[in-house]
Amino acid sequence: MHLSNALVSAQLAVGQQSCRRSSEIPDSRAKGGRMFPAPILEYFRPASVGEATRLLSGGAGENAHIIAGGQSLMQAIKSRLISPDALIDLQDIKALRSIHFDKNGLVIGAMTSYADIASDKRIPAAFAALCDAAGHVGDRQVRNRGTIGGSLCWNYIAACLPPTCLGLSATLELQNAAGRRRMVEARAFLKGPLETDRSSDELLIAIHLGPAAARTGSAYRKWGLVTDALPVVNICVSLEVGADHICREARVALGARSEGPTRVEAAELALRGVRKGDVRAIDAALDAAAEAADYQSDLWADAPYKKVLLRKIGREAVTVAFARASGEVGK
Ligand SMILES: Cc1cc2nc3c(=O)[nH]c(=O)nc-3n(C[C@H](O)[C@H](O)[C@H](O)COP(=O)(O)OP(=O)(O)OC[C@H]3O[C@@H](n4cnc5c(N)ncnc54)[C@H](O)[C@@H]3O)c2cc1C
Repeated sequence: MHLSNALVSAQLAVGQQSCRRSSEIPDSRAKGGRMFPAPILEYFRPASVGEATRLLSGGAGENAHIIAGGQSLMQAIKSRLISPDALIDLQDIKALRSIHFDKNGLVIGAMTSYADIASDKRIPAAFAALCDAAGHVGDRQVRNRGTIGGSLCWNYIAACLPPTCLGLSATLELQNAAGRRRMVEARAFLKGPLETDRSSDELLIAIHLGPAAARTGSAYRKWGLVTDALPVVNICVSLEVGADHICREARVALGARSEGPTRVEAAELALRGVRKGDVRAIDAALDAAAEAADYQSDLWADAPYKKVLLRKIGREAVTVAFARASGEVGK
């Protein structure tokens, strides 16, 4: 069955509790030719993590692929970058779609949508960069379908969530079919563009953030050709400040780079000891970030102009992170 038919059929199958194969889902094939270049033979909709990992580790065949929000995968299939024989759709696994707190901090299920993250008022100032990033991904449709887990597993060069999770020192929880769970720091998980530390039989389960020190604030900013477009440059800043409004700890992460998302140690060092509102010192730290960011020129902007943009959005991100750390502004 073609993916388009499978998805339409699957969406019509309301209230199903257990995993169904494409052969069990009524065929709603429309008249006309194939929409996608390669036929997708099987479509699975597991209702639990256990079922999904079993399918992933051979139960759905050799060439099965996970689909979350489909906002990147569908484009990859249409452009023949990926030609899966089977799709494992995670949308029925409710346990993967949640935002809650545990004793260490915030836990976000991999299938949580951008829209749910952006609108969650409980997310504290320490992790507010997540709301900045999720609230400006693409358009409303993309934010409703796209998921944090999909963004991290895809790790597209111009994505918002990978540098944000890196800047917030997130830890990712993965599980395989044997039930083995492992925790990986975002720094180790996110490699070059479209590359991660995930093994092919592992499912990303959740993203863990924290614990965060008191008086920690974060912010994410991006610059794209139009509002909410894919970023040409982006930055995530997380600051811990003292009661004296002086920065004690700083984390700065950049995306949109050919090596993948990266922390910028020079900027982090330069921000430590800086007092809130000290524009000259903040600009010096951003000069260090721009110096370290070996951008490449492309159709959207040349490398020197990207550095100009980085200084501009970086100053905004640092200023907002300071204000959030001081409890002056919320999300
Ligand atoms: C018009 C448009 C504009 C966009 N603008 C932006 C933007 O401004 N900023 C931005 O960051 N992104 C943007 N995107 C991309 C968007 O963020 C995607 O939603 C995201 O990259 C993928 O998330 P998804 O849930 O759709 O994953 P999918 O596309 O379904 O999957 C992506 C990949 O991750 C794998 N995967 C998904 N979930 C899991 C899991 N739990 N465990 C293991 N593997 C998994 C899939 O197998 C696949 O390889 C845009 C997309 C579109 C279509």
